[in-house]
Amino acid sequence: MMLKKDKNGTMVEQPRSYMKKIFGHDTFRPLQKEAVEASLAGRDVLTILPTGGGKSLCYQLPALVRDGVTVVVSPLLALMVDQVRGLKLQGVAAQMIGSMQSGEEIAEVYAQLARGELKLLYVAPERFAAPGFVERLKEARVSAFVIDEAHCVSEWGHEFREDYRRLHRLRERFPEVPVSAFTATATKAVAEDIVRQLGMRDPVVLRGSVYRENLHITAAPRVGNGYKQVAEFLERFKGESGIVYTFTRRQAESLAEWLRSRGYKATAYHAGLSPEVRQKAYHDFIHDEAETVVATVAFGMGIDKSNIRYVVHTGMPKTLENYYQEIGRAGRDGLPSQTLLLYSAADYAQRLSLLEELEEGPYRRSVQDKLEKMAGFCRSEGCRHRQLAEYFGETMAECKERCDNCTAPARPKVDITEAARKFLSAVYRTGQRFGKGHLVDLLRGSENEKIRRFGHDRLSVYGIGKDLSARQWDAVAERLMEEGALMRDEHRALRLSERGVQLLRGERSLTILSERMAQRGGAVKGKKGPVYDLDTETETIFDTLRKIRRDIALKEEIPAYMVFGDKTLLEMARLRPADKAAMLAVGGVGEKKWERYGAAFVEAIKALEGEER
Ligand code: ADP
Repeated sequence: MMLKKDKNGTMVEQPRSYMKKIFGHDTFRPLQKEAVEASLAGRDVLTILPTGGGKSLCYQLPALVRDGVTVVVSPLLALMVDQVRGLKLQGVAAQMIGSMQSGEEIAEVYAQLARGELKLLYVAPERFAAPGFVERLKEARVSAFVIDEAHCVSEWGHEFREDYRRLHRLRERFPEVPVSAFTATATKAVAEDIVRQLGMRDPVVLRGSVYRENLHITAAPRVGNGYKQVAEFLERFKGESGIVYTFTRRQAESLAEWLRSRGYKATAYHAGLSPEVRQKAYHDFIHDEAETVVATVAFGMGIDKSNIRYVVHTGMPKTLENYYQEIGRAGRDGLPSQTLLLYSAADYAQRLSLLEELEEGPYRRSVQDKLEKMAGFCRSEGCRHRQLAEYFGETMAECKERCDNCTAPARPKVDITEAARKFLSAVYRTGQRFGKGHLVDLLRGSENEKIRRFGHDRLSVYGIGKDLSARQWDAVAERLMEEGALMRDEHRALRLSERGVQLLRGERSLTILSERMAQRGGAVKGKKGPVYDLDTETETIFDTLRKIRRDIALKEEIPAYMVFGDKTLLEMARLRPADKAAMLAVGGVGEKKWERYGAAFVEAIKALEGEER
């Protein structure tokens, strides 16, 4: 990498030493060096790196090394606030312009921009439509544009935003300024669309591996509303932070309340809450005061908190892109984290019915195709990481131990061909006009009014399924729908497909995971035990360091991870640095952070080590 001059004409150090000095990192992560070099060479760059891959550094480092200001377009206010705060703590001249700032504050940022004092300026995409904004940028010295969450420009992506689409004008207005685009999730088609939409010129495209080794993935059929499964899962994470996603606002509230009533520190978060309540929930979460946020998927996009230890979905997401992005919020610090997806065939049916509002055509087909791949992922019994990798066009070997299917390759199954045939027969004999609940009643020989009204108690199938509970029959019906043997029509009545007919005729058999036929709760697989695997001494030090961090964070009113990330504290607890040099050797400790916080941590470590002797 070349040496560069700063604006006073003095030589500045190489990016790598800059990285150490400002960000405290010793080595580049995969593709960071390539991204920084391409950017410094004035190229357009599209970088696709998974969450936690370290995208920020890829543009922040070049921004600091070269003259002028780098303008970062980011879709989320919360993300910008976090980034700018974090950068300021590291001594970087960064600012943002957002809707919640006063006119005075914005004027001050503009003044700093005009004086050439800023290295990084964060803005929302709609800012470009504000009067005078482009002109001010024209007068300032813009060295690069950065488009964060660049998949938002693509209609084929999963979070298309109209404001992003208009960003192509940047290229027209600032033809000479290089553009860097970043995203964690882009299929090949979406990547091509980003390049096209932003008018990128001969871009360097860097695609990192999708595989997030530190995430353990589990997907399990949801039992009832899934609350008990969620609670059982959370049991392992007392004192740690995580997110539980629900479909609807109402579910978020009711699950949060249920969890609280069982002694969990859970808070609901969704767009229907007042801004104050939302802000408090967000604040408590990033300050480690609420352990679990139960939220709709609006929560967490761009959230910078690095120590999220788990992400739970209580229902099936729309697409694998959404899913990958959402689970990606866990473990950004690289430490082991767990994800749990609870699904049912009803989720698929519900999502499918929403599709009917879309106009028939290629767009709708693409959405439906994505939905089907998502459903296939849930049901599948192959390596989950590999399926995600393949979805994004990458090949990989099985993860071996980072997903439920690889950890427990031989999950016990039972044959349910006989039960399946009984169920299909009930569907057939009632004229394919009834829903699941009625069919289960019929099989179990219920004497309810509806059964009698239709004369269903006179059918040969009446009462032939008393050997199974209603819950087990439910599982059989779900399995038949997953298999595509039964379809649900718009009135939720079940009908036989060709596959169903074959099953009924005895030309096929059907199995199901034993756990789904178990009488009580669906066991959730995954690793048990402590999250970090520390010896007791190190754990004591780690806990103390976390307390010190918490106190500092409260005093300075910043999120704890901005003081130091969990990974940094863990390394401190292991290495026990006793002076400045040793402290600077810890990943995540830069000069500024050392000056600001170093002493408190060194003293605490010394005191604890003293105690041991
Ligand atoms: P992304 O935006 O890709 O999700 P971030 O830029 O937020 O990822 O980085 C994730 C975490 O990794 C942050 O805590 C960051 O400090 C850390 N990180 C980034 N680059 C490095 C590096 N080269 N060495 C060590 N840690 C790094």
